[in-house]
Amino acid sequence: MKYYSTNGKAPIADLHKAVVKGLAEDRGLYMPERINKLPQDFFNNIEKMSFQEIAYTVASSFFGEDVDPDALHDIVYDTLQFDCPVVNVKDNIYTLELFHGPTLAFKDVGARFMARLLQYFIKQERPRVGERSSGMNKHKEVNVLVATSGDTGSAVANGFLGVDGIHVYVLYPKGKVSPIQECQFTTLGKNITAIEVDGVFDDCQALVKNAFMDAELNEHMKLTSANSINVARFLPQAFYYFNAYARMKEKLSNHTSNLVMCVPSGNFGNICAALFGHEMGLPIKRFIAANNANDIFYKYLQTGKYEPKPSKQTLANAMDVGDPSNFARIYDLYGKSHEKITSIISGATYTDEDIKQTMRECYEASGYILDPHGACGYQALKDGLKDAEVGVFCETAHPAKFKEKVDEILGIDVEIPERLEAFMRGQKQSVAMTKDFADFKTYLMKQ
Ligand SMILES: *Cc1c(COP(=O)(O)O)cnc(C)c1O
Repeated sequence: MKYYSTNGKAPIADLHKAVVKGLAEDRGLYMPERINKLPQDFFNNIEKMSFQEIAYTVASSFFGEDVDPDALHDIVYDTLQFDCPVVNVKDNIYTLELFHGPTLAFKDVGARFMARLLQYFIKQERPRVGERSSGMNKHKEVNVLVATSGDTGSAVANGFLGVDGIHVYVLYPKGKVSPIQECQFTTLGKNITAIEVDGVFDDCQALVKNAFMDAELNEHMKLTSANSINVARFLPQAFYYFNAYARMKEKLSNHTSNLVMCVPSGNFGNICAALFGHEMGLPIKRFIAANNANDIFYKYLQTGKYEPKPSKQTLANAMDVGDPSNFARIYDLYGKSHEKITSIISGATYTDEDIKQTMRECYEASGYILDPHGACGYQALKDGLKDAEVGVFCETAHPAKFKEKVDEILGIDVEIPERLEAFMRGQKQSVAMTKDFADFKTYLMKQ
């Protein structure tokens, strides 16, 4: 499969290059040149298949031309060592719980899949004739740099943990990530180095961007990024939606002609994967993108104008995005047509006050504990479902990840799952760094 850039000015790439590079040379996002339709037979029998079996079929359709079938099977089954259940919350509203991965984040799937796919491609790279052999393996390693405000760092660090040939540097702002999140990437050791930057998230991101642009540093070590624009990170999220359809078919005894999927969205990678699934034939009637107060996409749907803004801080902070990077993919997927986009996706936007009220209402009415991100999804279905429609929203985070907020809003004591507790018992290790690029560069040059 070939991949083109959404900006149309970069050379066509193969999957290997798209995964290693992440972003195209013209700063556009890679798009597959074709989206294969899956056979009707697959959808007729999907409810008899497991999450892993479904995912392997979907993965083969995207990546089958470029990855050996046994290796791809291994990557999918290694990535999905957990389930992704659908739960009825209230009446015709269901939730797809995406938080059963190792760090309780839906990003676990893309992070692990990308780590294993990158490893597969690195192993294929034979040393070229005349290549300087320094004798130090470190220089042959691929180094992943990732800036995080919390969730991405933990998913990426855990996804890449123990994957040989790859070293990960997680840059995070000192004192600005929650204690639970910090434990998830500072206690791992092995091939994961946590770098605590004396600054804010934007400083971390600037350090990473500067590192990619520094010629001397790139000569010294092989650098790549693992953020959500990478095709290997966002596409595997399509697995979730095929699984949701299968599980809903079971629950509704095949009466699935009016299914609506609602995705709490920030950078729009997750919903974009769902839309790719739809293009592959997944029978979902329509989609809702639920936003917090960062309403850039919502406004685009209303006006046809895409106007990025600085992000606003909200209770659902993983969705605090003022210029969603995957908008470019959605725009491209539908031929830049506002009419096509609004025919398949609608929007919703909620303030922090709305989110709190929704969490309380849902808890009182059903006992289900929403996290602030999932709350946007639930409310968008409550507000937007039409008669005879059945809605499924993604619960994108386990409520314990936002324990302080959830406890305060609902007046309860959310139980912390054993998996999270285990991280909190680990020994924190990090490298202190200033926000000055010269310091960061000196540090990397010594690695
Ligand atoms: C990353 C994240 C989102 C937003 O997902 P996008 O793919 O960026 O739209 C929503 N909720 C949670 C909890 C997240 O971590």
